[in-house]
Amino acid sequence: MNNQTKYNFQSETKQLLKLMIHSLYSNKEIFLRELISNASDAIDKMRFQLLSCPEDNNQYQDMKIKIILDKKEKKIIISDNGIGMNKQEVINNIGTIANSGTKSFLKSLNPENEKNNQLIGKFGVGFYSSFIVSKKVIIRTRHFKEKKPEKSILWESCGEGEYIISNTSKSENGTDIELYLKENEKDFLENWKIEQIIKKYSDHISVPIEIQEYNTKNKTISWKKINEAQALWTMQKNQITEKKYQNFYKHITKDINNPIIWSHNKIEGTQEYTILLYIPSKSTWDLWNQDNKKNGLKLYVKKVYIMDDADQFLPNYLRFIKGIIDTNDLPLNVSREILQENHITQSLKKSLTKKVLHLIEKLSKEKEKYSIFWKEFGLILKEGIAEDPSNQETIANLLRFTSINSNDIEQKLSLNKYIQNMQEKQEKIYFITAENYKNAKNSPYLEIFKEQKIDVLLLSDRIDEWMMNYLLEFKGKKFQPVNKIDQDLEKIIKKEKKSDFSENEINQFLKITKEILNEKVESVKLSYRLINTPTILITQNNSMSAQMSKLFKDAGQNVPPLKYIFEINPNHELIKKIIQIKDHKKLKTWINILFDQALLAERGSLENPNDFINRINKILINT
Ligand code: ADP
Ligand code: MG
Repeated sequence: MNNQTKYNFQSETKQLLKLMIHSLYSNKEIFLRELISNASDAIDKMRFQLLSCPEDNNQYQDMKIKIILDKKEKKIIISDNGIGMNKQEVINNIGTIANSGTKSFLKSLNPENEKNNQLIGKFGVGFYSSFIVSKKVIIRTRHFKEKKPEKSILWESCGEGEYIISNTSKSENGTDIELYLKENEKDFLENWKIEQIIKKYSDHISVPIEIQEYNTKNKTISWKKINEAQALWTMQKNQITEKKYQNFYKHITKDINNPIIWSHNKIEGTQEYTILLYIPSKSTWDLWNQDNKKNGLKLYVKKVYIMDDADQFLPNYLRFIKGIIDTNDLPLNVSREILQENHITQSLKKSLTKKVLHLIEKLSKEKEKYSIFWKEFGLILKEGIAEDPSNQETIANLLRFTSINSNDIEQKLSLNKYIQNMQEKQEKIYFITAENYKNAKNSPYLEIFKEQKIDVLLLSDRIDEWMMNYLLEFKGKKFQPVNKIDQDLEKIIKKEKKSDFSENEINQFLKITKEILNEKVESVKLSYRLINTPTILITQNNSMSAQMSKLFKDAGQNVPPLKYIFEINPNHELIKKIIQIKDHKKLKTWINILFDQALLAERGSLENPNDFINRINKILINT
């Protein structure tokens, strides 16, 4: 061999190799799945490259993965005529694990964990699994752009800390992986065994996988196709088992869990396309990364793989969807830029969005599954209320809430159900927003609603306040925050308005209170919505809510002060006492305390808590 150079693995790689061999030993057959998956990826990439030079299309017809079992040399050869690698790529892709997932992979490896084998694929360290069964691995590879056969690359390693790279001669582009099996792994030299493993894990691979057969009688060699070799989504639905759908999902997403639901559709007509869309059963951290606008959709044109993360086909609030879209209407050489401004993309996006929403609707009929879905993706779906006005009602229909009556922190109540349960004269959908469930649930604003058995949605997800700025109506019913003026509420309250004091006494008290609070409030009113609370602050219906104003303030924005209406509960023991206070100074202290209490209930904090404490202490001293 010429130009032979020795390299050391990164220390992490060494560690990984050791761990891998130990922890995956019980499921060693997965090495085949990993190597075939790589070969299939390489062929997909090659097909894509060939699009730019259609004269090579004959090559495109004949792409396949070949397996030879060499009993004499005790080795398995897995060959593909895919894209191949040049020297630098071999070093980068095979020699180093530049993958940031490696560390987390190492951490998650645990000899007791049955899921280790699935984790391997997930973290993109699949190639190394070949060392579970091999004492030596040789890669021969020729990049499709390399014109000289003798400039092909040979990589060789025993998986013990170092590898060797040299030149070799290879007639075709693509990659051959040679596995020199360990002494006790001879089972893998049996055709039936390999066929069985491939059927199990790789049947959905759209590239033909062929295995060499040796006829001992005639001493001839022939090739046998093992897999279906048809892109799963192009097959008839009734030919696809549930298991196949699930395996395909795991193959494209590297998720270790099964999807929760999927939809497979072939659409014909003005637009022709096939979609296979999955909803995962678990969300991933990258969904929450603001900069990450990727989604999990793969684009195919006329069955040819074009790109991953085809985010042009779905709105951002559906970014958790995985799957493929295969269209006949786009040119094969389509680029991201073209996609962006293409009207076909736009109309595909529209119909895909509808399809996904429909799929979620279908899922919503299955309570348990929907509850999993809602926990994992509900917050993301909520973004759609603002992002997609044209589908707002459909999305709103999919939202789930908790409410006073549901008496459970889990969000299970739909708006439809809420409307069904409304009180006779109730016209609006009532809601409260707060920092957390407990605050919402115990808010004094709810007293009258609890008493009158009018249900109120309790909103405490961070996005809710923002969402409710866009969600104004559902099926003709307006949304009404409980802390704003609402004439309709007064109409439905079935309660006698009475008080121990004369109208004159009360009016006098309201007047003095307004004088004391002065600029702090817009007006002071009597309230019959309170039961156990003396006072409360209400805002005008068109004003910004306290939560919203807080969010703006936190973001460093200037927010005009809220104009409050100070409502007083004339039947509260404390008010009954205060009304009778004649000493103006004392009265002033009391009124200010009441105001601060109401502020606390409204926004959860005070600008000057010290003032509040001082006033309370003053009163405590005098009692
Ligand atoms: P992953 O497939 O998740 O990227 P692997 O360890 O399986 O991780 O492979 C590492 C990389 O090596 C691949 O991403 C690819 O770039 C390269 N590679 C592996 N096998 C082949 C192959 N048969 N042809 C071309 N490139 C390959
Ligand atoms: Mg791989």
